[in-house]
Amino acid sequence: MTSREEILHILRSLRVELPVDSKISEQSLLEKLYRALDCAQLAPQRLPASGIVPQSLFPWDRGPLRRPFCSENSTEDIGMLSVLLSVGVLSTMERNDFVDFRLVLLRFAEEYDKGIRSAVVRDQQPCYLTLIKFVKVLKLNDTTPLIVVLYQHAVRKSQVEPDTEGPLSSFPCVPGSRGVQQILYLLLHRNAARLPEAYKAPREPDDTDMEYSFIMPTEPLSLADLHSLSKDKACNVCGRKALKHCAVCELVVYCSKDCQKQAWPSHKTQCRALSSSVWTAIKFQSSCVTTPLSEGMPFSNTNQYTPTDEVQSTSRGPAIETEDPPPNHYGTKPFIIKIRTSDTSVMVYDHWQTLNFWLMSSNDPVNFRRLSEAASTGSREMQCYRWAKRISDLELSVCLDLKLPEEPRW
Ligand SMILES: [Zn+2]
Ligand SMILES: [Zn+2]
Repeated sequence: MTSREEILHILRSLRVELPVDSKISEQSLLEKLYRALDCAQLAPQRLPASGIVPQSLFPWDRGPLRRPFCSENSTEDIGMLSVLLSVGVLSTMERNDFVDFRLVLLRFAEEYDKGIRSAVVRDQQPCYLTLIKFVKVLKLNDTTPLIVVLYQHAVRKSQVEPDTEGPLSSFPCVPGSRGVQQILYLLLHRNAARLPEAYKAPREPDDTDMEYSFIMPTEPLSLADLHSLSKDKACNVCGRKALKHCAVCELVVYCSKDCQKQAWPSHKTQCRALSSSVWTAIKFQSSCVTTPLSEGMPFSNTNQYTPTDEVQSTSRGPAIETEDPPPNHYGTKPFIIKIRTSDTSVMVYDHWQTLNFWLMSSNDPVNFRRLSEAASTGSREMQCYRWAKRISDLELSVCLDLKLPEEPRW
């Protein structure tokens, strides 16, 4: 029911980026999406691998549900987004299907706090909807509630079918686009399989078409998860599991020598350009050392993915210390950086803005000039994208002369 394009779209809303020409199979892509949703709900940390037994859990007794569903980190403060949305000042920049999905979960929690026990999520065109009944709230641990729900996902035959009749009219309405409902459905479908069969059997006569599942608070993916999920392990030619990457550029992966040979005619231009271009080693400063507060420039991103208090106590690892250089998730592999210059400084950062370095013209005028010259060739003023490799904590080797065939937009 979810197409390849739709899965990629959802993954992008979770900030998982796969190469546009990836040959990854639809099955692997869907598995990746399920894994991403599990990371978002911290399933590996919160749930036993064998599934959960709701009968063994106590009822939730830690106050209103809104709070755990508001979990925030410095990437997204979903509680604040919700307030901004309610007064109509939330810009589309800050929204995507995954953010909207998290807003829907927060709405569920708020409705539950008000004593409401059901909801219908619907698209503006009410032909695509999801019915939810909140069965009970259990305590998975002191900070994590688990809402047991009954759900039903429905596509209506007619967009103009009136809503004023039937059981639906009594359900409070929560707006949610088709994309949001796809995420919700996939997550509920995933979690349904974690409940014991015996638990799912008893239902009220009204609920025979509904399935048991559960919902937990979700949050943006950690940087380690993003890097891991954004790895494309599918052969660039046939899509089978890749075992080797191109030894020259390290950018593409293949399952076999045969596939590598087959790809060479189309790959050689990019590969040769990368290997024959001049790479310039440049020492930067970390953002928290210099912190020049220019307008519109984030002054520190090193803690952007700092997880919530709750997450810090889990195996996800500690928050990134602002004093320390960001961890190197790229290894020796080239990655794309954005270079933005002003009159006196240069900022470079990667897609997720966790690697965020500065160079002041006063510290290194020669490389400042080189970076500024590269930036002046970009399609937008004073900024460009280039390949780079991390060579030490604060040092990058940048392929300054080589323009990217297609400029990304971030
Ligand atoms: Zn292959
Ligand atoms: Zn290559």
